[in-house]
Amino acid sequence: MSSKEADQLPPHVLIFPLPAQGHINSMLNLTQLLCLSDFHVTFIVSEFDNRRLLKHTSTHSCLARYPGFQFLTIPDGLPDDHPRAGDRVTEVFASAVKYMGSYFKKIMTENDLLASPNRRPVTCIIADGIFSFAADFAEQSGISLIYFRTVSACAFWAYFCTNLVVEANEMPFQEKGMDGLVKSIPAMEGFLRCRDLPSFCRGGGTNDPILTSIITLTRQSVRAKAVIMNTFDDLEQPVLSNILKHVPRLYTIGPGTAHLKSRLGENKVAASIPSASLWAEDRNCIDWLKEQEPKSVIYVSFGSITTVTREQLLEFWHGLVNSHKKFLWVIRPDSITGEGADRIPAGLEKGTKENGYMVEWAPQEEVLNHSAVGGFLTHGGWNSILESIAAGVPMICWPYFGDQTVNSRFVSEVWKIGLDIKDSCDRVVIENAVRELMEVRKDEFFERADHLAKLAKKAVSEGGSSYCNLNGLIEYIESLII
Ligand code: UDP
Repeated sequence: MSSKEADQLPPHVLIFPLPAQGHINSMLNLTQLLCLSDFHVTFIVSEFDNRRLLKHTSTHSCLARYPGFQFLTIPDGLPDDHPRAGDRVTEVFASAVKYMGSYFKKIMTENDLLASPNRRPVTCIIADGIFSFAADFAEQSGISLIYFRTVSACAFWAYFCTNLVVEANEMPFQEKGMDGLVKSIPAMEGFLRCRDLPSFCRGGGTNDPILTSIITLTRQSVRAKAVIMNTFDDLEQPVLSNILKHVPRLYTIGPGTAHLKSRLGENKVAASIPSASLWAEDRNCIDWLKEQEPKSVIYVSFGSITTVTREQLLEFWHGLVNSHKKFLWVIRPDSITGEGADRIPAGLEKGTKENGYMVEWAPQEEVLNHSAVGGFLTHGGWNSILESIAAGVPMICWPYFGDQTVNSRFVSEVWKIGLDIKDSCDRVVIENAVRELMEVRKDEFFERADHLAKLAKKAVSEGGSSYCNLNGLIEYIESLII
């Protein structure tokens, strides 16, 4: 290749998500959006997840249609039989930061920043916002770093301001109780309760090591040249304006999958979007949905990390059956702790057979967009919430940890598209919530959810905020070529 031809090579972006389903999904959407602009992209995936992708999906063959795309697999430092869920998910974070971090630095340095005859050295790194080692590496090597924060802007802002909550002596919460309002987070003063703060605020007080490390980690986001978020301006505007005061550039490009669909349509690429599921999708549930009445089914899924005890499982089971609504329930094989998980509880056989359908993993976005689905009982992970918003489906949130406690408050109090049942796992509460969502307040929730879905669609269509921001991001990355 002549030096002139080499000069004309497109930017080469290295994308590095945390090895977890929600992070991989949202960062793979961005990958494809960049590939559609003919960028070269190297996507880092753990060897463990790569084996799962090869086993359960057509991700590899689908992405092969982009000549500039390549996977780079590296070990995650955990044994294959590690659960990578529930309480032990913190070990995934720790190992990714320590083990994958040093592996990544070694590969980048030893391979001349991943240059090859047809690929320029990496133009910029787009790293998961929780990877502080990426900022260290960028500063040492002189490569530009952009962070992708896969959580909502509202949760990111709550994380970012947790030090203000500490400084204002609003933590620990004993004095005003869990329902007291938090006053020190701008844009959330009127509705965010202590109970809604990120779950790590519930730990051992202001010197809690997890709390301190999350505050440090979040505040170091400002070290990147830019921050990308999977959200859209109309959804989170007041919070986004606050974040923009702290980061040099902010690109909101979501909802990711809806954006990708819109761009594929524009490019007249009749390709479907590959699922990047780490579990085998059970498509039989789509046939079951086809037999159900419009908006009659509540879809139940707690994402890829949440685990529940046998007792909690029973409460959900009774609540769902007693609501007499149809339900499609994802129960991951690794999601129940305790004995007897696979048995249908006594007395619930008939109700389960008549109204329920269970799978181990579902094609979630297809399910949410199915006309039979009228509600989503979710743990409130950001991808799930955004996918539900894009599909116009109201939600009941039962947050498990981290950002989900903030997201669920926004669902119920700010966007008013559902209910937040955090901190309670009681069959009567669940039954009542399902009835309220699917029956009593159905029209009111649907009206607002439909409005937000329209705004989401507008954001990713030509001229919309996310559409223009992606163009801005592409131009910015092009400007980084030296
Ligand atoms: N998901 C899926 N099938 C399922 C359950 C979840 O495809 O049966 C996907 C879902 O569409 C979402 C991701 O897994 O994109 C879960 O991410 P989220 O941020 O909602 O939660 P997390 O798993 O990180 O807690």
